[in-house]
Amino acid sequence: MVGEGILKGLVETARNFLGSYVSKNRLTTVQYPEERLPQIEAARDFPILIYDGPDWQQGMRCVACQICEKECPPKCIFIEKSKDKKPDAVGKPQFFPAVFNIDISVCMSCQICVEVCPFDAIKMDVDYDLSTDDRFGNLLLNKQQLSKSNEYYNAIHPTEAAAVDAHFAAERAKAEAKMKAAADAKAATEVKAASESTLAAEEAQPVGGEPR
Ligand code: SF4
Ligand code: SF4
Repeated sequence: MVGEGILKGLVETARNFLGSYVSKNRLTTVQYPEERLPQIEAARDFPILIYDGPDWQQGMRCVACQICEKECPPKCIFIEKSKDKKPDAVGKPQFFPAVFNIDISVCMSCQICVEVCPFDAIKMDVDYDLSTDDRFGNLLLNKQQLSKSNEYYNAIHPTEAAAVDAHFAAERAKAEAKMKAAADAKAATEVKAASESTLAAEEAQPVGGEPR
């Protein structure tokens, strides 16, 4: 029937309007900005850079590989790689971004940067309250403004963040096991070399005044 959808919509609106006088569940609006609905886990708006530990510079996961910069469709990511290196989450020396800016006035929230990052360093935020009257200054975010702790990431995307944490824990365990195996092998080589040298010295000892 023509107009059936419109009629259904009007009926639903009327039910909510009248029902809101008797049931809180029928109140479909909130008094924003004083009241805010909690964000769902799958919500996303603009990217953020995740860091581990208390220091955002030291703990920054980004290694400035620039994959996200290349893949970003509207080219709103700007990265300059550092000249020196710092240890990453598993202690491996890595480059880091000397400059990392995102122009969120251009970003279209496609999440491609997140999908392509091999280091789980860039994720999507859920903070939507970003309006400003300075389109050029306040919407070009630098690496400090973009940096958010892993605790914050866990709070906004708990399921996804738990999987990333488990992956990092496995990587750390693997790296520690590798280091331990290397240290054990080195110690075994040293013991073997020391015992061979002792044996050689004993063989070179004169027996009854004559070398053996
Ligand atoms: S969400 Fe999309 S548009 Fe925004 S920075 Fe990432 S890749 Fe670029
Ligand atoms: S956010 Fe990820 S993809 Fe982008 S430069 Fe950093 S490590 Fe590379």
